[in-house]
Amino acid sequence: MDVKAEIINSLKSKISRKIWEMWFSTFKVESVKDDLITFSVGNLFIKDWISQRYARQFSESIKEIIGHDVPYQIKDEVVEDSQTKQNIPLVRKRPLLLSEFNKEYTFESFVVGPFNEEGYDGAIEVAKNPGKMNPFFLYGGVGLGKTHLLNAIGNYLLENEPDLHVMYMTAEKFMNDLVVSIKNGSTIDFRKNLREKLDVLMIDDIQILEGKEGIQSELFHTLNHFIDNQRQIILCSDRTPVQLSQFQPRLVSRLQMGLMVKIDNPDLKTKFEIAKTFAAKNSIPLDDQMLREIVNASDNIRTLKGIINKIAFKSSKIAVNESEISKIVKEIAGVQIKDFEGEKTVEKEIFFNALSMIFDIRPAEIDAKLRTAKLSNARQIGMFFARKYLGKTFAEIGEWFGRDHSSVVYACKKVEESVRLDNAMVKKVILQLQEILKINTKESAM
Ligand code: ADP
Ligand code: MG
Repeated sequence: MDVKAEIINSLKSKISRKIWEMWFSTFKVESVKDDLITFSVGNLFIKDWISQRYARQFSESIKEIIGHDVPYQIKDEVVEDSQTKQNIPLVRKRPLLLSEFNKEYTFESFVVGPFNEEGYDGAIEVAKNPGKMNPFFLYGGVGLGKTHLLNAIGNYLLENEPDLHVMYMTAEKFMNDLVVSIKNGSTIDFRKNLREKLDVLMIDDIQILEGKEGIQSELFHTLNHFIDNQRQIILCSDRTPVQLSQFQPRLVSRLQMGLMVKIDNPDLKTKFEIAKTFAAKNSIPLDDQMLREIVNASDNIRTLKGIINKIAFKSSKIAVNESEISKIVKEIAGVQIKDFEGEKTVEKEIFFNALSMIFDIRPAEIDAKLRTAKLSNARQIGMFFARKYLGKTFAEIGEWFGRDHSSVVYACKKVEESVRLDNAMVKKVILQLQEILKINTKESAM
């Protein structure tokens, strides 16, 4: 085999078949020189996509085959050959794709059971008849598949209605974009982009707009625009519109006007089935006992998936046995790791994993500098929780979160106040943290 083919084979072994077929159909190794390896792909868009995501694999494969690091470049060629063109349908659709959907999140990869079939059926209905059921409002707890279903609708439309303009955004992005446009005096453009260009708009996690009056007004008008023009608007939240207690009443009533569906927590049996499906998909042989342990430790599907992904990752390197699995379960589901003189010590890593799971952020973002509403929220509640339930000192908390003493004190006070005022979101996060970390609710003195 020549070097070019070897590099391709090595890359193939590192990239899933689906991705390979979708994105690498035009991929070639053009030349291999001592000081530079040149790859080529069908166009600029593919080049951007794969170079952002597979840089590590490119370097690894080069090192593996050549024996040492060699820099590489990716060229985008204009491919005129009509046969190759047939293999890249995504490219033709690209101009209409206004946001990237997660390719893994499809209707096919969504496991349906009694607990979520209402949500699933609703999403399918909306995907088949966009504009008919307005607004489509999907709600349910953390990690139960809301974002997955939104992406599934997007992927379905991309495939079946490539002419439609579809956009997914988080409520946080909606808010940030609006705030920036207000600052720049460009709210007209903000509205134009959302209202005039789109056939389907999805806004995820709108609960974060609680108490944000101005943003809610904009959302209200956006909603009306889509409804009046029979364009589809889809919204997700972790609770019902009525439970969004700090939402404007007019917005709450508008949200209830269309199709409202709930995703519940899976029952144990279904969770078991889901775990089995994930394991099979990743080709990891787990017996029922192992699956049961994983299921028992996971309070939502995200955790379940996280554990199985980690096992799959490990199993490519070592044989996975019961004790290895227990370790991973503990690591991800956040069960205590040390039992020191009868006291449970929750380590930073586990705690940050739990926070990141609840807020859908990366653990590394928690003690970094970046400030978004979501991150600040996660940090502040995290600091409060560490103080009140993990018995950490302000100094220890400051060290964990990379914040100074006064920020920690401020955060703890602020969250304490929210708890006193019965803030539903804060209380829910605290309950979830307790659940994940399996801590007694017994409160230590502040
Ligand atoms: P949410 O948005 O409700 O917090 P997500 O959609 O992000 O939850 O789901 C968390 C993870 O669990 C994702 O990786 C998702 O693919 C997976 N997941 C959730 N429900 C299902 C399901 N029914 N079938 C397959 N995967 C699921
Ligand atoms: Mg989500």
